[in-house]
Parts: sequence; C-alpha cells; structure tokens
Amino acid sequence: MRILAIGECMAEMAPTDAPSTYQMGFAGDTFNTAWYLAQLTPETPLSYFTAVGDDAISSRMLGAMRESGINTQQVRIVPNRSVGLYLITLNNGERSFTYWRGQSAARLLAQDKQALAHAMMQSDLIYFSGITLAILNPEGRAALLDVARSARRGGKRIAFDPNLRPHLWDSSSEMTENIMQAAAVSDIALPSFEDEATWFSDKNPAATLQRYARAGAETIVVKNGAETVLYRTRGAEGSVHVPPLASVVDTTAAGDSFNAGILAGLATDTPLPDSIALACKLAGHVVQGKGALVPINQSLLDSCPQP
Ligand code: ADP
Repeated sequence: MRILAIGECMAEMAPTDAPSTYQMGFAGDTFNTAWYLAQLTPETPLSYFTAVGDDAISSRMLGAMRESGINTQQVRIVPNRSVGLYLITLNNGERSFTYWRGQSAARLLAQDKQALAHAMMQSDLIYFSGITLAILNPEGRAALLDVARSARRGGKRIAFDPNLRPHLWDSSSEMTENIMQAAAVSDIALPSFEDEATWFSDKNPAATLQRYARAGAETIVVKNGAETVLYRTRGAEGSVHVPPLASVVDTTAAGDSFNAGILAGLATDTPLPDSIALACKLAGHVVQGKGALVPINQSLLDSCPQP
C-alpha cells in the first residue's frame, strides 16, 4: 500500500539549555505523522505532498524529509515563497508557540489541482488534516476536497484528522462546516474528543463517533488523551484501554504519532484494535519525550507488523 500525506511542514525553533539559543528542526502535524510512519513501516512507500519555496531553508527541509525516508518527488516548488516558521517559548516548563506561516508556500499546495490529483493517483491511502484545510484559501479547500472525492470514487482510501485549530480559521462556523465537508469525503476519521466536544458540543466520545459515522466514515477512532479510545469499523464498535503513564513530559504530537500507528496498521492489514494498541504505545512514548519528533526505540518498532 502506497501512502500520501498532505499538509504543511514548518521550520521549528526550539529553545536549548543555553540562554537565547535555539535549535532548528522541522515539524507540522501531517509531516509528524509521516515521520513516525516512515519508521514504523519503512517498507511502505510514503510520500509527502506540500509546497515549499526555492530558497535554502526549503531545500534543507526537503533534505530532512528524504533523510527520514519520505519521498518528496511530488512536492511543489513555489518561486519567491518560503516555508512557515514557529518558535517555541518555555515558561516554567509550559510551552507556547508563535507562528509565522501566513505567507508560507504550503498555503498554495492546492493551487495546481492536477498535481494534487496526480499525487493521489500514485497512492492507495491519502491522509490530510483540518490544519491542511485551514491553511488553504476557499478555492484551495474546494480543490483538495474535490480531488479527494474523485480519488475515493476511484478506490483510494481517505484518512482525515479534524485537528481543530480555531485560530487558523476566520470563524468557528467556517471551521466546523469545512471539517464536516472533509469528513464526508473520508473513509477513516481520527478525531480527538476534547477538541470535538469544545467545537461540536459532543456530550461524550460516542457522540463524536456517531457524528463522523453519519458523515460517511467507515472507520472512526476517537482519541481521548489518557482515557479509553473508542472505535467503529465496518459497523463493529469497541474500545481500547490506554496504558497509564507514570509521567507526561510534553503532549506535542500525541495525536500525530497515534495516527501513524493507525495508518501503519492499515498499511499492514492489522486488525483495528491491534493498531490502536500500537498507536497508544507509540503516543505514550512520544508524550514522555520533548518535542514533536521523539526518536522511537527498537522494542516499539519490533511490535509493529510489517507488510
Ligand atoms: P491530540 O494530541 O490529538 O489532542 P490526545 O490528547 O487525545 O490527542 O492523545 C492522543 C493519544 O496519545 C491518546 O489516545 C493516548 O494514546 C496518548 N496519550 C495522550 N495523553 C496521554 C496520557 N496522559 N497518558 C497516556 N497516554 C496519553
């Protein structure tokens, strides 16, 4: 199974122990998922679709993607633009983020509809998120959903994480409407209950699950932090216990890494409850480390089925 992830990767400036000194890295929700996925199932062909600029930092980002085992052949190069950037500030251990991404090349990733359609044609499983949609203009969003709808009709599977980020949208109603339009073209929905409860007023994870099922998703996995994961696939429902952790260091990319576990399971035809258990194990490891991209250990890799 060939996988395509679509979205924005940004340059990240993370504070180091030395005062006023930052370490540069690359991260972004769908990219984080691809980064974990490349390690979980290195045999699975995996591409990232985005747009970057034609400058040095853009080339460095593409180099970092390739080094992680992600194919960048489909990435669009937009002259005179560059990649987005965010800076992490630490205040008594609490991380806050400042973004410069309004003019990033990735905002134009859906401008060439044919390129997007071509990238989807080369894949079997296509993954994007509510953040992918949020950074596009209305025409870009319509193009992405249109191409995804056609790809799905042609037998491709579409996986979607709503990843609700109200500050990236003009209004909460614009966000919720677009998210449900994306849900309607998706086979697999991977929502997080806390966000869904806030913006869709879901009373419990079962209500979140039912809303995405009504929208047309065949497989739904509802994440809920340290609480039990609820799922439904082909009409069968169940839940998976989340192993408790002694300490949580940083929850950045908990959901992104979790999704990598689910996609790895889909790529290897693993039964969904087993994929969820792997996803919990990986996300549990990630929240015990710092930053979005936490190196994963051999025992985790050994527990991942290979195609
Ligand atoms: P998101 O990052 O999308 O908000 P969640 O916070 O629901 O997602 O977390 C995703 C997954 O990460 C959970 O399903 C769980 O497997 C793991 N996780 C997150 N927080 C904890 C925690 N405190 N203890 C154990 N596992 C956790």
